[in-house]
Amino acid sequence: MSEPAGEPVIGDPYAFAGQDEFRERVRRLLAQSVLLHAEKWEQGACIPAEGWRTLGEQGLLALGHGGEDFLRSAVFLEELGRTGYAGVRAAVGVHAYMAPSYLELFGTPEQKRRYLPRIRSGELVVALAISEDGAGTDLSGMRTEALSADEAGRYVNGCKWPVVNGTQADLFVTLVRTRQATAGRGLTGASLVLVEGDSPGVIRRPEPMLGMRSADVCRIEFDQVRIAADQLIGRQDRALMYLMKALEFERLVAGLLAVGGVHSCLALLGAHVREHRVGDAPLATKQAVKHRLADLVAEFELVRHFAHRAAWRHSRGDLNSRTASILKLKATELAVEAAQVCVQYHGARGYAEGSAVARHYRDAMAGTIAAGASELMRDMIFEDMSYEL
Ligand SMILES: Cc1cc2nc3c(=O)[nH]c(=O)nc-3n(C[C@H](O)[C@H](O)[C@H](O)COP(=O)(O)OP(=O)(O)OC[C@H]3O[C@@H](n4cnc5c(N)ncnc54)[C@H](O)[C@@H]3O)c2cc1C
Repeated sequence: MSEPAGEPVIGDPYAFAGQDEFRERVRRLLAQSVLLHAEKWEQGACIPAEGWRTLGEQGLLALGHGGEDFLRSAVFLEELGRTGYAGVRAAVGVHAYMAPSYLELFGTPEQKRRYLPRIRSGELVVALAISEDGAGTDLSGMRTEALSADEAGRYVNGCKWPVVNGTQADLFVTLVRTRQATAGRGLTGASLVLVEGDSPGVIRRPEPMLGMRSADVCRIEFDQVRIAADQLIGRQDRALMYLMKALEFERLVAGLLAVGGVHSCLALLGAHVREHRVGDAPLATKQAVKHRLADLVAEFELVRHFAHRAAWRHSRGDLNSRTASILKLKATELAVEAAQVCVQYHGARGYAEGSAVARHYRDAMAGTIAAGASELMRDMIFEDMSYEL
C-alpha cells in the first residue's frame, strides 16, 4: 500500500513530510540539467557557465546547509550522486556546500551579502583551495602565505593543488599562513581568505585527474595576489578551529554523494547480471554472482540508513566527527568495492574506456582520498572510541 501524499514514509524515522515527492522532483530536474549534458561536460572537463546557471535557476544550488532544510540537501546530494557522474557531483558539492560553508558559518554579513546570492544562483562559481603538494592529510606543511601587508591589503603567494572548479572559479576560499610557521605548531597562524578569481596574479593550470573528469581540477598559483583586509574569513590565525568544524560538514556531504554513487553503480550491475548471458543463462542465475550482489546490497542498505541518520543529526545540530568520519569511510570504500565488482561482471565491456562502468571505477578511487583519506577517517574514529557506542 502506498503512503498518503505528504506523510513521512513509515519505517524511515529520518524522513520529512513530502520527502518522496521532493526526491522525485530533484530526480526530474537532474535528468534535465545534468544527465542530458554530463557526457559533454566530462569531455569538456568542466560544467560550463550555462550548466551552473541552469542548476541555479532550478534552485538546486540554494538548498540549506543546516537545520531542517539540510534534510532537503541530503536528498539532493544523494540524488546528485545517483546520476553516476562523480565529477559533476564533486564540482557541485564543492560549489554549493564545501566551499560556501566557510562563508555560511564564519563569514561577515557583508561577505555573505556580497557572495552567497550569486553562488546560489550559479552566476558565480566557487572553489576550495586548501591542499598543496606538500600539505594534504597533514596541512602543517602548507607554504602558501599572506604574510606581507601594506595599507592596500595583504599579498597571497603560493600554489594550491588539486582544486576542483579551478578554471571556472570566480572565488577561491583559500587557506594561507598569516604568521611565520613555527616548528611543531602545526596550523597555528593560518587563516582563511577569499581570493577573487579575476585578481592579477591568479594563474590557473588545468591538471586532469584519472577520473572525476568534469570536476575541472587545476593547480592554482597565487603570485603576489592582493586581497583587501575585509577578505579575511573569521578571525586571523584561527583557521584550524574553522577547518575542524567545516571538514566535519565536508565529510557528511562527501558521504551522502558517495551513497548516491553506490546506488548508481549497483543499478548498473543489477541490470547487467540479469541481461548478460554467459553460455545459455544470465549471470544472475549463478549463485556466486547472486551472493556477491546480495552482500553489496546489504552493505549499501546499512550505509544508506547510517547516512540518513547522519544527515538528521546534522539537521539537529548534533553531528560529530565520529559520525561524519564513519559515513565518509564506509560510503566511499563501498563505492570502490561496488565499482570493482561492476567491472568484473561486465568483463571486457566494463574495461572499455568510454563505458559508464569504467567511469564508476575511475571515479570511485578519488572518493577514498579526497576530503580526507580513509586512513585519516580510521584515525579519527579510533580517537573517538572512548565515546559510548
Ligand atoms: C579528485 C580530488 C579532488 C580534490 N579536490 C580538492 C579541492 O577542491 N580542494 C582542496 O583543497 N583539496 C582537494 N583535494 C585534495 C584532498 O583533500 C587530498 O588529496 C587529501 O586531503 C589527501 O592528501 P594527499 O593527497 O596530499 O595525500 P597524503 O596526505 O600525502 O597521503 C597519501 C596517502 O597516505 C595515506 N595516509 C595518509 N595519512 C595516513 C595515516 N595517518 N596512516 C596511514 N596512511 C595514511 C593515505 O592512503 C593517503 O592517500 C582533492 C583530491 C582529489 C583526489
